[in-house]
Amino acid sequence: MNNTAVVVGGGPNGLAAAVVLAAEGVRVTVLEAADEVGGGTRSGEAIVPGLLHDHCSAIHPMAVGSPFLSRFNLDRYGLAWRWPEIDCVHPLDDGSAGVLHRSVRQTAAGLGRDGSRWELAFGYPASRFDALSEDIMRPLLRFPHHPLMLARFGAPTVLPASTFARFFRTEQGGALFGGVAAHAFRPLHYPMTSAIGMGIIAAGHRHGWAVAEGGSQSITNAMVSLLGDLGGKVETGVRVEDAAQLPPADITMFDLAPGAVARILGERLPRRILRAFTKFRRGPGAFKVDFAVEGGVPWTNPDAHRAGTVHLAGSFAELAATEREIHAGRMPERPFVLVGQQYLVDPQRSVGDVHPVWSYAHVPNGYTGDATEAITAQIERFAPGFRDRIIGLAVRSTTEMDCYDANFVGGDIMTGAKDLRQLTFGPRITLSPYRVGVPGMYICSAATPPGPGAHGMCGANAARLALAHLAT
Ligand SMILES: Cc1cc2nc3c(=O)[nH]c(=O)nc-3n(C[C@H](O)[C@H](O)[C@H](O)COP(=O)(O)OP(=O)(O)OC[C@H]3O[C@@H](n4cnc5c(N)ncnc54)[C@H](O)[C@@H]3O)c2cc1C
Repeated sequence: MNNTAVVVGGGPNGLAAAVVLAAEGVRVTVLEAADEVGGGTRSGEAIVPGLLHDHCSAIHPMAVGSPFLSRFNLDRYGLAWRWPEIDCVHPLDDGSAGVLHRSVRQTAAGLGRDGSRWELAFGYPASRFDALSEDIMRPLLRFPHHPLMLARFGAPTVLPASTFARFFRTEQGGALFGGVAAHAFRPLHYPMTSAIGMGIIAAGHRHGWAVAEGGSQSITNAMVSLLGDLGGKVETGVRVEDAAQLPPADITMFDLAPGAVARILGERLPRRILRAFTKFRRGPGAFKVDFAVEGGVPWTNPDAHRAGTVHLAGSFAELAATEREIHAGRMPERPFVLVGQQYLVDPQRSVGDVHPVWSYAHVPNGYTGDATEAITAQIERFAPGFRDRIIGLAVRSTTEMDCYDANFVGGDIMTGAKDLRQLTFGPRITLSPYRVGVPGMYICSAATPPGPGAHGMCGANAARLALAHLAT
């Protein structure tokens, strides 16, 4: 094949698209706006020399079993996964917690009266997750490979998370489910807000909530090395803002938010697609704080000391109320805070007894206030004495987030609201969400199915479509 491709944006999806194309002999160039490639999969120092922080993504239940990452065997390029002893803990004010283990049975055993219900809800999809992912890691509106299995998994996903949570009888079971469902950044009483949580829980029970050794940056490094071996090139510091900047190529891939594609291609897009991309809806924002903490976080709950991820929101009811607030554009006093303790299984990230603690809070899109105190107070609530152990911190507000990576508009780290329509179809109502209506051009960012994460599947799916186009 003597074809050429340009990929605009070097996040995990752009790089995945580049790899899939280059593996078939296409000559690929990735143009990346930032000085380093990687988008939401970058890591580095921020507070203390030697202390390693994940700047964006940190925990990878969707990437570790990704068909794209597995196909290319990235461990050959230095990608090694590490699994925390406990995947996720959701502590409550009385010191108890919902505790998520990789094993469904072990999780159920810790959930008392909810144990059998947890097994009933997640045992089946977890045990068949690899087959299921053939259907859920691509556009949903296709004839499924496994229709019965998909129907059984899919039926409860249409429910609002608040309805599904009622299936659990204990505060711990409901909160544990709710914290994962809230990754959707949607009010939990809205239809289909169970879907993302159910997908993450099923994936996690199958593959674990892994972290990448050496930081999420290792995912990027491995993809860039592989791409280099396949003859692909990456140019950093190139922000594409106009179609005139695009080098001629048989294929152009945009690892960008739909609004950016609309700005770059403008009238070259069919009018209905231009309108859909311009009106693409954004989700709430994330306000990030990285901490350097001496001796780690002094959690009240003992399991939280061994967990890669800790969800801080209190009960399901409190979580649902805060998610409603941020959706309405109001900053709650006690936001949902996600804490990452990747260093527990990747000690090279720490310096002596000083450890990098990753956190972000759900806040309204474009929130201009400072959520540092709200995040610190939420951690202190479940870990009294935390404040005294902080020796430094680094903050990234919602507006700084979209300077860091233009896909995260207003701090929207999901690359778009995952409402009913956008979750089902992607950026516009179509059976072919990667096409932009210009022959040879595709959108492949996390705005497209299967959505956010470092799994690379949006890029890989779009690239396969492009290869089919080249073959015609
Ligand atoms: C704080 C935070 C925490 C997260 N936590 C997790 C997590 O724990 N687990 C998880 O799975 N996911 C997590 N995510 C989400 C994950 O990072 C994203 O879903 C993922 O990075 C999306 O990949 P992408 O390739 O679609 O886009 P991106 O990673 O956003 O990459 C897009 C790239 O395009 C570049 N670009 C943008 N505009 C232009 C332009 N005009 N010209 C050229 N280049 C351009 C950007 O600089 C960027 O490098 C998190 C994200 C953030 C910000």
